[in-house]
Amino acid sequence: MSEEMKLRKEKLFSKAKNGYDRISEQDLAAMEAYCTLYRDFIDQGKTERECALRAMQLAEERGFVPYRRGMELKAGDKVYISNRGKSVLLAVMGRKSLSEGAHIAAAHIDAPRLDLKPMPLYEDSELTYLKTHYYGGIRKYQWVTIPLELRGAIALKDGTVVHVVLGEGNEPKFVINDLLPHLGAEQGKKPLNEAISGETLNILLGSHPVGESGESDRVKLHVLEKLNEKYGITEEDFISAELEAVPAAMSCDIGLDASLIGAYGHDDRVCGYAALQALFDIDVPEHTAVCVLADKEEIGSMGVTGMQSAAFDTFMHDLCDGQGVLLRECFENSFCLSADVTAAYDPNFAEVYEKRNSARINYGLGLCKYTGARGKSGASDATAETVAFVRRVLDDADVIWQMAELGKVDAGGGGTVAQFMANRNIATLDAGVPVLSMHAPFETVSKLDCYMTYKGCKAIYEA
Ligand code: MN
Ligand code: MN
Repeated sequence: MSEEMKLRKEKLFSKAKNGYDRISEQDLAAMEAYCTLYRDFIDQGKTERECALRAMQLAEERGFVPYRRGMELKAGDKVYISNRGKSVLLAVMGRKSLSEGAHIAAAHIDAPRLDLKPMPLYEDSELTYLKTHYYGGIRKYQWVTIPLELRGAIALKDGTVVHVVLGEGNEPKFVINDLLPHLGAEQGKKPLNEAISGETLNILLGSHPVGESGESDRVKLHVLEKLNEKYGITEEDFISAELEAVPAAMSCDIGLDASLIGAYGHDDRVCGYAALQALFDIDVPEHTAVCVLADKEEIGSMGVTGMQSAAFDTFMHDLCDGQGVLLRECFENSFCLSADVTAAYDPNFAEVYEKRNSARINYGLGLCKYTGARGKSGASDATAETVAFVRRVLDDADVIWQMAELGKVDAGGGGTVAQFMANRNIATLDAGVPVLSMHAPFETVSKLDCYMTYKGCKAIYEA
């Protein structure tokens, strides 16, 4: 290539480069340290309740205090509230009035899983099982024949809440069985999405009968006795419980070069942790910085702990009241980074991606102007001006980032909390870590992209 052509191209062409060709030595070292902390967070947080609890513990260690309505706040003050233990809102008060808007990063801490039904326990053929009802978009065939844990909460009639963790560490785990190939000929002819039906996702809980031969439900009695011993519960208490079966695997480095992280629940704890840690690491910001760790995104952000709930508006309203500012004025001047994962280009399934517009592993934080399906249905399509603002902020802070679409136009689609923030009259842009095998029991992300998402959230808070 002639030198002249090279210069002409350099001047005009966009220059997408692998993050490893751009990252500084200093950032490389910081990336490893950051990813170690992130792995610790997801290993401790396998449910939204556990993530919320851990986030609040970390926040208190860094000087955040629970927000009380009417509290007087000044620049630099750090507060948080728990929404029913399943979602957390945190803020660092800025130098400017809230009338000039807040800078928000909103991620979700719920993840696809198998919830227990309200009446889950039964015995069949002297084996005891738990019935499940899947939560979020799962590929059911991925959840059989892998070790599972049971985690969650049981609320007793007297108001006490029992926290349940079964199957952690060296404890016995649980499993959903699948058909052997020898007898699987008919099942094998079914489409992938139909081969395992929702009603066969039954968790094996035990096989050891107690009492006299000839009695019924002897295995069920045995497991209930064990549960009663450990948690003081009876079968009725499942009715007011939120118990989730989650993969028993712990996070680990992936690849001989240890450049990736494999774990359950990267979607979207990988952005949730980035948004949280970035909030911890900022100085007193110009605009009030707000981190949202939402629940229920995987089922449409519904319910009292989802992003559609007025809990967020109430918190922001209270902060605004403290400054005599109208909430609507705050919202119209705010910016929200809807921090959620996107699909990483997977060369094994090239047919569903449009390579020029797909997020690539190690190309950094993936910005999505819009999500949605087909003709952008259900998308919060950020304005060009909003995207330009984020480009500028990220470039000024040396954040490695890329543009991303989920996949080919007609191949499918997805959504995030972006539309619910935008509906509040808050300028919003989707951005997050590209994920391989999204929504699988074990997802893969790159360390470089994780770290750049942290840097991106920090830059937004500080903008
Ligand atoms: Mn997500
Ligand atoms: Mn998801």
